[in-house]
Amino acid sequence: MKKNNFKKVIIIWALLMFSIGYAQINIKGTVEIDMNSGLINCDFDLSNIPKIEEYRILLNKGMNIKYFKDDKNQLISYNGHHNGNTNGEAIEYTLRTDTTYIPSKLHVTYRGAFPIYKNDEFSAFDYKGIIAFNGETLRATEQTKWYPVIYDVTNDRLINSYTYDLTISIKGGTTIFINGSAPKKGKTSRFVSKKAQRLLLFAGNYDFVESNGNYILNTKITKETSKKVFSNIEIIKSNLSNKLGIVFTDKIYLVSHKAINKRKKGSSWGFNTYPTFAFTALNFDKMLDDEGQFTNNNVRYFGHEFGHNYFGNNVNSGKLKWFWGESFTEYLSYNIAEDLCGKDFLKETLIKQVKSINEEDTFIALSEVKKRSDIGSKYRYILAPLMLKCFEDRFGRDKMNHIIKSLLELSYDETLTLEHWKQSAIKSGIKKDAFEAFEKEFISNKNFKQNIIKEIVKNYSK
Ligand SMILES: [Zn+2]
Repeated sequence: MKKNNFKKVIIIWALLMFSIGYAQINIKGTVEIDMNSGLINCDFDLSNIPKIEEYRILLNKGMNIKYFKDDKNQLISYNGHHNGNTNGEAIEYTLRTDTTYIPSKLHVTYRGAFPIYKNDEFSAFDYKGIIAFNGETLRATEQTKWYPVIYDVTNDRLINSYTYDLTISIKGGTTIFINGSAPKKGKTSRFVSKKAQRLLLFAGNYDFVESNGNYILNTKITKETSKKVFSNIEIIKSNLSNKLGIVFTDKIYLVSHKAINKRKKGSSWGFNTYPTFAFTALNFDKMLDDEGQFTNNNVRYFGHEFGHNYFGNNVNSGKLKWFWGESFTEYLSYNIAEDLCGKDFLKETLIKQVKSINEEDTFIALSEVKKRSDIGSKYRYILAPLMLKCFEDRFGRDKMNHIIKSLLELSYDETLTLEHWKQSAIKSGIKKDAFEAFEKEFISNKNFKQNIIKEIVKNYSK
C-alpha cells in the first residue's frame, strides 16, 4: 500500500469511528431462575460501556451483590451497600476506582430473592416495575432493573438497551423468553442478540405458538384465532414496509401474563417492551372483529408500536428524541389507520385528538425546544403527530415517506435535528421556500398550537 493510500485509509477509519454514535453495551453471562423458591442468580460481564463521568449503576433492591470485578478479575469496592440511595425500583451503586468515569468493562455477580404469589395470595399492587413470580411464570421487565442498568446523571438518561449473549437456566419451569429472541423450551438455553434490546425476561411453565418468526406466548388460543392474529400482524408490518420501502425486521411477541394483584373481572392491564406486548386477561377473540380483523383501535395501537421497528434506538438521542421516537411513530399510526380502517376512522381519530388539547395546554415551538422534557406526553403523542399530519396534507404522503426514509438513513450515524428534516424535505423535491413557509407557521411560530388545530379542523371536520 502506498503511503498516501495508507493515510487515506486511516482518515476514513477515523471518520467511521466518530460517526458511530450509538455504541451499544453488551451483556454476557448466566442467569439461574428457581421458580419454586423465587431465587435468581446472575453473573454478568458488561462491555462497551460508554465513557460517562457522572453515573450510577442501578440494580433492583431485591438483588444482593456478591461482588463487582474489573476486567483483570480484581475486586472493585463500591458505594451504595451502606446508606445507598434508591432510584425507582433500584439501589444506586458507584464504583471506587482510580478514575471518576465508569469503566468500559465490568463484572458483577449477585443473587435476588423474591416472594411468590400463588393460589389465593396477592400483592396489594402490580405494575411493570415488579419482579413477579406467580407460581407459573416469572416476569421481570427492564423497568425492574433485574439486570444492571446504567444511569447517566448529567443527561438524565437511562441506558437499558443492550446487545446480549445470555445463558439462562430454569428450575421448576419449561420455557424461557428474553425480549428480541424466540422463546425456547428446555432447562438451559442460550440467547444471543446483536441488536440492542430492553431485557424483558419471561420464564416459567407455558407454551407458545409461532408464525413467520412472530410469537404468542402463554395463552390457550385456537389454531384458527392464532392464524387470524398473525395475519393481522403481517398486514400492519407489510403496510409499513411497503409504504416506507424499508424491510420490517423485528419479530413481534405477544405475551399473556398474569398480574400478582387481585384485579376486577374483565379488567386488562398491558405494557410493552418493544417488540414485546404483554397483556393480562388477554382475549384475542376480543381483539378481532367479526371479520377476523383487528378492531380499528387495535390497528392504530399496533400501527404505532410497530412503527418503532423504524423509530427505535436509532433516534434515542438529542433533545428532540421524543419527537423522532414517538411523534413519528404516532404519525405512522394515522397512515395505517387510513389505509386499513378507512378515511372516516382517520377523520374521527384526528378530530378526537384535536379535542383532547385543552385551552390551557401550553407547548414550546419545536424550534425553541431546549431539553427533552420540553416535549411532554401530550406534545409527543398528540400535537406533534398532528403537525406531521399537516405537513403530509400540504406536501403529500409520497414526499413524507421519502423524508422519513432519508431521516432514518441519517439516524443510524447521527443525532437527528430539525435541519436534517429540512434538508431531507428539500432532497425529496419540496421547494426551500415552501418548507420555510410551513416552518414559519407550524414549527417555529409562537401560535403553532392554534395553527395546527385550525388546519386539522379545516381539513377533517367535515
Ligand atoms: Zn411509542
